[in-house]
Parts: sequence; C-alpha cells; structure tokens
Amino acid sequence: MGDKPETLITDGVRLDGRKPKDMRALKIVAGFLENADGSCYLECGSTKVVAAVYGPRQVHPRHATLFDRALVRCKYDMAAFSTDGNRKRPGPDRRSREISKVSSEALSSVVFTEAYPRTAIDVFIEIIQADASTRVNGLTAASVALADAGIPMRDMLVALSFGKIYGTQDGKPAEVVAVDMDKPEDNWGLADVALAYMPNLERFVLCQMDGRLTHDEFRDGLEMIKKPAQELYKLQKEALRKKYKG
Ligand code: UDP
Repeated sequence: MGDKPETLITDGVRLDGRKPKDMRALKIVAGFLENADGSCYLECGSTKVVAAVYGPRQVHPRHATLFDRALVRCKYDMAAFSTDGNRKRPGPDRRSREISKVSSEALSSVVFTEAYPRTAIDVFIEIIQADASTRVNGLTAASVALADAGIPMRDMLVALSFGKIYGTQDGKPAEVVAVDMDKPEDNWGLADVALAYMPNLERFVLCQMDGRLTHDEFRDGLEMIKKPAQELYKLQKEALRKKYKG
C-alpha cells in the first residue's frame, strides 16, 4: 500500500470514481464448484471470494457434536496470493481466526440448526483476491452456498460495509459516510463498519467497527446500506435461480 492519499473523496467523488452510496461492481455465481454440496463465487470490485459448504455430515472430532442442533463451522482464509505487496503468509492467523469465529456465529443464527442435530455444516470462505470488505463479502457468498446446498435457513444473509472517509467539499475539509469500503478507504479511512443482516426478517447478526462514528453518522450509514443490501439480495436470488432453472 502506498502513501496516505491527501483525500479519499473530492466533491462527492471517491478515488475510484464512485459516489458515497455506490457499491463496486458485483457478480454472484451459485454452484461454482463441483465437489462441494453448495458453493458460490462472488466479486465485489477486485475483492473475489469462493465459498463452499459441506454437510450436514458427521462431526469430526466427535466430542464437538451438539446433541440438539447442527454445529455450523466457518473457516475464513485469505489465500497467500490474495494480496499485493508484503502479505500474506499461508495459514491461519489471529485475524482469520477472529473472522472465522464471528462468521460461524452469524451463519449459525441464520440456519435452522435444530433440523439437523448431531451433524456438522462446514462452510469454507476463501478470499482469492483481497481489496477490503472481505469478511462481509465472504458472508454474502456463504449464504448463497448454504442455500445452494439446500440447507434450510430463516432468511438469506446479506453483508456489506460502510465507513467514514476524509476529503474535501468545495475546497473545504469534509468527512463523508460511504458504503462498501475498498482497500485505500479501509486502510486510511476514519471508520469502517462490517454488517450482516437478514433482509426479510430485518435482523442484524454481525456488527463490527473500527474507528469512530457519531450516532448520526452511524444512522446515516445504516440508512445508506438499505438500497445496496436489497440489490445484493436480488443478485443472490438471481444467482440461485440461474443455477436451478438454467
Ligand atoms: N489485508 C491484507 N493482509 C492482511 C490482512 C488484511 O492485505 O493480512 C487487507 C485486505 O485487502 C483486506 C483489508 O486489508 O481486505 C482489510 O482488512 P480487514 O481486517 O479490515 O478486513 P476486511 O475489510 O477484509 O473484512
């Protein structure tokens, strides 16, 4: 990553040409892998994700079995070739363990786990190219992969980020709330929030934040993600329909 830019947004236009409310270009493909029970490929700008689901299947190790519900386990990984520059060593680190944990919890709350006691539902999220917002795009892809595997869920999971970036407006310094953080915005921005929520039940299952936002800024961000979240949900459904109806 280069030097800190002087501005991330100038007169309402971000470094990559987006307006504050714009997501990057999105693409979702359901059933991307042959060997998994369910899978998804997702692109959000240059962030590229593959998600794969196996199960419900026998739990290994056996002592991890839950007798009244399925164990939903998510493993998030950033491939060694996923970033430019100085990162990343292969294998788990503190960050990927944390993301795996919060993703497992978010996915557990969306799956009807009680329908499959004593089984495991394993979800793998592989980031093959990272340009920020990988945990949220991973969850959006994982929810398509779960649906593709035919696992009953309360709702889909739509996940996206917003944040606050600095810049100028009419030549004066400005701080602006914007959706879908890319790498420079995540790195240099003033705050970023990762959210996952169920679009029909309108329930949040993940909220993580870096940096500082006022209550009003947080509310503006929540308002701003509503439209792109609906768009993501629509793309999820289209991807699943395409796989099953051709
Ligand atoms: N990143 C990286 N190497 C790392 C961790 C992160 O290059 O070891 C980059 C990557 O582009 C990632 C971004 O920093 O998407 C932001 O990481 P963060 O921990 O905020 O999670 P994310 O926004 O991807 O969910």
